[in-house]
Amino acid sequence: MSRKKAEDRGPQSQPGACRHMAAAVDLPVFGSYTYQLSEALAPQAEAGKRVLVPFGHRKVTAYLLGPAPPPENVPAKHVLDILDETPLFPREMLSFFQWTADYYLHPLGLVIKTALPAGLNLKENSQLQITSTGLRMLETEALPPLEEAVLRSLAQAPCRREDLSARIGMPVPGLLVNALADAGKLCRKKVLTRATTGKRLERWVFLCSNDNGRHRLTEKRQAVIDLLQTEGALPVGVVKDRLPKAASVITAMEKTGLVRVEKKPVYRDPLGSPITPDSAPTLTEEQRRAAEAIRGTLGQGFAAFLLAGVTGSGKTEVYLAAADAATAAGHPVLVLVPEIGLISQMERRFRARFGEVVAILHSGLSAGERYDQWRRIAAGQVKIVVGTRSAVFAPFTDLGLVIVDEEHDPSYKQETGLRYNARDLAVVRAKALGATVVLGSATPSVQSYHNAQTKKFQVLSLTRRVAQRSLPEIQVVDLKTVRGLKGVEGYITPALRKAMRTTLARGEQVLLFLNRRGFANFPVCRACGNAITCAHCDITLTLHRGSNAFRCHFCGFSRPATTACPTCGADRIHLMGLGTEKVETGVKALFPNARVARMDQDTTARKGAVRDILKGLRDRTTDILIGTQMVAKGHDFPHITLVGIICADLSLSFPDFRAGERTFQLLAQVAGRAGRGEQPGRVVLQTYNPDHFSILSAQAQDFLSFYDREIAFRRALRYPPFARLIQIRITGKDKARTQRQALALGTHCKALRASRPVYAGTIDVLGPIEAPVSRIADRYRWQILLKGAGVNPIQRFVRELISAHPGIFNDRHLTVALDVDPVDML
Ligand code: ADP
Ligand code: ZN
Repeated sequence: MSRKKAEDRGPQSQPGACRHMAAAVDLPVFGSYTYQLSEALAPQAEAGKRVLVPFGHRKVTAYLLGPAPPPENVPAKHVLDILDETPLFPREMLSFFQWTADYYLHPLGLVIKTALPAGLNLKENSQLQITSTGLRMLETEALPPLEEAVLRSLAQAPCRREDLSARIGMPVPGLLVNALADAGKLCRKKVLTRATTGKRLERWVFLCSNDNGRHRLTEKRQAVIDLLQTEGALPVGVVKDRLPKAASVITAMEKTGLVRVEKKPVYRDPLGSPITPDSAPTLTEEQRRAAEAIRGTLGQGFAAFLLAGVTGSGKTEVYLAAADAATAAGHPVLVLVPEIGLISQMERRFRARFGEVVAILHSGLSAGERYDQWRRIAAGQVKIVVGTRSAVFAPFTDLGLVIVDEEHDPSYKQETGLRYNARDLAVVRAKALGATVVLGSATPSVQSYHNAQTKKFQVLSLTRRVAQRSLPEIQVVDLKTVRGLKGVEGYITPALRKAMRTTLARGEQVLLFLNRRGFANFPVCRACGNAITCAHCDITLTLHRGSNAFRCHFCGFSRPATTACPTCGADRIHLMGLGTEKVETGVKALFPNARVARMDQDTTARKGAVRDILKGLRDRTTDILIGTQMVAKGHDFPHITLVGIICADLSLSFPDFRAGERTFQLLAQVAGRAGRGEQPGRVVLQTYNPDHFSILSAQAQDFLSFYDREIAFRRALRYPPFARLIQIRITGKDKARTQRQALALGTHCKALRASRPVYAGTIDVLGPIEAPVSRIADRYRWQILLKGAGVNPIQRFVRELISAHPGIFNDRHLTVALDVDPVDML
């Protein structure tokens, strides 16, 4: 990766009149570039600010990184503008961004862009504009109707190509646009489009003190003055609320100079309803010891803990105690949770304990809200942040404590763009800042537990639930024995039904878990035997009764559910397979008086839906909740005393070396939702594989027995944590070309490996193979898996591969993505 590539010639400059700075551009290019600053701009230039720079023939946003020596041969191009008044991130974060870019083999500018709240950047867009030739023709000549319509519209105002058809109300072919451009009747002009996010401004009233007391004032005016005198400047809205007739008065007073109205930026408050403050309970002996150990490391440099505590053992209280100690010592705290749905619970518990100092950061906030939170953090106004994975990039400079709750959760891995793992980056960041990091889970990842075994992490165990509560008793039902049963009996077995009836009769709540949404995921034609598959993916469609459509869970393609078999035309589609929607229908039929809710991707698309569903559980207006893995995660609902696992096997057969780990985690986690209150809980676990060790150890809720089996298997097959992986994913719309390039890249990999003893001895090249899902959204998918003892040689290998074969990596018809430490193997 070449750094400081010399840019083409910039404007001539006086020696000494400017200085040079390195910048990372917001484009998929590796390395950083040096730009020079004019005398006018130089004083405002600061690392962490965005600038507008020329790059090739474009103008793009870039991030200033810091002073740099001038390039040797050619003068550097000039920074065109500085876009921020204050840096968006502290300088200290640069080394973290650089580390992330190097480790995940991702361009630095795009790493910074991923880290920053979305929507900040200026973009250059092309607009169509009429030329003087075009104008003349329009006036003087008879033109074909469509051509005339286009030019007449552009004569009124320039327009983006993609908006043109809508603007004139008929389709405009690209050929016509090109022909008009070639004939010089219109031209393409580049314009900067404004960023979509900015500070929100609010109107405030200020008192102008010099006029005070000189005039005799009306009652209304005096009231405004009194209010501003006692409370200081206030938003106009607040003044109007307090003094209902103030609106017209303020305008009049502004005219006479008594008050001044000015716009001030405001911070939007994304938080929900008020929370009752609480105080810490008396910790159990185990909690106290864990909190004590963490507290002892605060402010003492880097320390890493794995808090392994069974479900309901009170891990959150340990986090709260540790956070209390950190904030008391003046160190901010970052708390990561795997999913938006879990933020509200964590946020409530933190706010109940610490009050209004808690900020939240996640993708469910509007761009503006995120931007505001970001600025508050950067300004050092926030003591505690609770957020999802991207919050690992929050602009703290002096973190004292980082907490990663449910550290085993695959949601910490981002699967597009910068494919980072927030759990791993949390450890890296803590290390760089000399902070303490606590990874917590009832089912630690094999990776983290191995790190504990090899003394990278210190283990803190919570072996018992709080208040002498017992872990739920798990009854396994072998689904093979009920194979003959039809309809709902086939998935809500008599044992589960009986348990549900007893639980509901006692006024307690039931949680049913099935890790698949929709109604039926395997519709097959009884006439021709073909499955109903997606037109764009290599996958069967799932019936969704709610929207009466077959839907693709990969690309969103849908087909009306009323259609006949697309292969043979027969009207005999048989709905095989099971999803949460079908379970819901069955349960409602079996228990017509129960209040049933469902939580999966389909029911939670609306903003606030997750909160509403969880509120139903908390307020006990829901008796039975049916859900996918969304319900398995860390929720704490004391009145759930029965958990039914409809089919435990769905994740076992995945072509993924972590299938056993995922299955164990899901089952143990969902089982752990039962019996967290005063009443003991029980679990009915239905499975076709009652003898599989993942299921046996979940039944025993015994992480260690699972770990011992699993780690032996990983060691024998040389899978992580005994090897490191980088997955190269090659996708493209052209089937033949994608395959050809994938095979070529495979050949290059093997040649490169053979060419150096260091590679031959340490790296395995597996593939290229067609991905298990060979096509998604019309893109054909291939993969090459690189496996090695350490990650450094594989990274070096990939860098060498990229520079030796730019043709493949820059092929416009392909996407070649690099996935370091891949999680999704499909
Ligand atoms: P985990 O995250 O380990 O599954 P939680 O932290 O959610 O468990 O705690 C489970 C429940 O026990 C919560 O309702 C919590 O308020 C309660 N709890 C935790 N610690 C104590 C304690 N020391 N005394 C009383 N209740 C506690
Ligand atoms: Zn599809």
